Amino acid sequence: MPVSGLGPYDGANIFARLLRGEIPSRRVHEDEWAVAFHDIAPQAPVHVLVIPRGRYVSLADFTATAGDAEIAGFFRAVAKVARDLELETPGYRVLTNVGGDGGQEVAHFHVHLFGGKALGRMIAA
Ligand code: AMP
Repeated sequence: MPVSGLGPYDGANIFARLLRGEIPSRRVHEDEWAVAFHDIAPQAPVHVLVIPRGRYVSLADFTATAGDAEIAGFFRAVAKVARDLELETPGYRVLTNVGGDGGQEVAHFHVHLFGGKALGRMIAA
């Protein structure tokens, strides 16, 4: 049982299918470690998801079981995407949901990258 209480990785999850090209995505970046694409239901003017190519259900699983090069490559890709989208100067937010209380819907580790406006407080009341 992988860490984070989400059960084993399911290769039929929507991001696994998206990685395999079985469903479309509006990709903004891809490299050896990560793929980034626009969220289908954006919650900010810029709302991009960044996912590792590897099979990890959550941040907990990724950081416990991925290799150092993969972890570094992934997080460098997140920052590069923000830079390429010209979010570095105005600022942006990176968020990852983990498990039930975190509101995680897709059990393939991903981070949300939000920007394009002042984002206010961290959690809506
Ligand atoms: P989370 O609740 O952190 O698991 O977030 C899952 C995110 O995936 C949500 O923001 C969805 O809008 C987004 N999403 C679901 N299906 C797709 C898809 N096919 N392409 C892009 N984003 C998606």
